[in-house]
Amino acid sequence: MRRLIRACYAGAAGYSYAKSAEDVAREHGIDRVARLASNENPRPPSPAVIEAASRALQAANRYPDTRAAPLVEALRRYHGDYRFVTGVGMDGVIETVIRTIVEPGETVVVSTPTFSFYGLAAAAHGARVVSVPRCEDFSVDAAAFIEACRGAKLAFLCSPNNPTGNSVTPEAVEEILEGMEGVLFLDNAYVEFSGIDYRPLMRRHENLVLGRTMSKIFALAGLRVGYAFVPGWLEPFYHRAATPFALNSVSLAAAAAALADVDRVRETCDHVRRWRSRFLEEVPFRTFPSDANFVMIDVSPLTGDEAVERLAAKGVLVRSCTSFPGLGDHYIRVCIGEDWENERFLEAAKNL
Ligand SMILES: *Cc1c(COP(=O)(O)O)cnc(C)c1O
Repeated sequence: MRRLIRACYAGAAGYSYAKSAEDVAREHGIDRVARLASNENPRPPSPAVIEAASRALQAANRYPDTRAAPLVEALRRYHGDYRFVTGVGMDGVIETVIRTIVEPGETVVVSTPTFSFYGLAAAAHGARVVSVPRCEDFSVDAAAFIEACRGAKLAFLCSPNNPTGNSVTPEAVEEILEGMEGVLFLDNAYVEFSGIDYRPLMRRHENLVLGRTMSKIFALAGLRVGYAFVPGWLEPFYHRAATPFALNSVSLAAAAAALADVDRVRETCDHVRRWRSRFLEEVPFRTFPSDANFVMIDVSPLTGDEAVERLAAKGVLVRSCTSFPGLGDHYIRVCIGEDWENERFLEAAKNL
């Protein structure tokens, strides 16, 4: 029956996940594993968020709001007067935007090495994926990117970029927006850690979508909430393409409450910035400047996979970057965790 499977799934490997903390704990007989592989927030949601989610759970017999209104209202309070769409994680938003704009066979442009899901989702939709390699220092060659975007209706750019950690300046983004005819999806999953504000570009360009997630700084990875700033013309068509009631009522309520907790966001950001500097100073390998809550490290002469295994034996789970297309096999990505996790990682890195 395997012949029935579509070619895009039959041949390719699909999304590559980090090893689970449970597996590492079992294999190496470790009680508490430092979980630094998935760029999550190490702090659980605040009591106010849990309270809001519990309240929503009591009304779970009802369908959620059709347009995610409780979350959209909270987003307007948090960001101001913009148009928002929501989805099941930013991953869900990415899929829906592709579905809204791209016909099978059309071109989607990505800038590699980067987050793999743009290419996977576009290929699954039957699009042709064109990769534009980043420069040696992982910056984006705006002219080459614009050239590749000629005739394309949709392109993806990640800033700060996963896994390299660097950002594209708003000026370079603006140059790209002016040079391309299609829509630019700018993935801002880590933007809160960067201090860069791309939102003003929404006022000047009608071909920009800013993708955001509640999974990282807002500590809700398990509830799968993503959203995007969209131009007004796109919003009604996004809703036509979206899966009905995709975002559940518990996630909606929790996300709205998390957006109200401004102090906690600031604390997380301060914690990340403090540790990020220490990682860059103390890791005895080549590190790359980061605007995100993780740091990419060149572990050569080890391969990324070897470093991951050795660190796992010391109770530290990090991500090998081998599965990122267009990157060599000697990088790992380590996110900022709790104090004890970071201390353990630094200690282990010094003894690699
Ligand atoms: C984590 C991540 C996302 C997706 O997050 P969701 O959990 O689906 O909201 C999107 N883009 C990048 C670059 C990420 O690292």
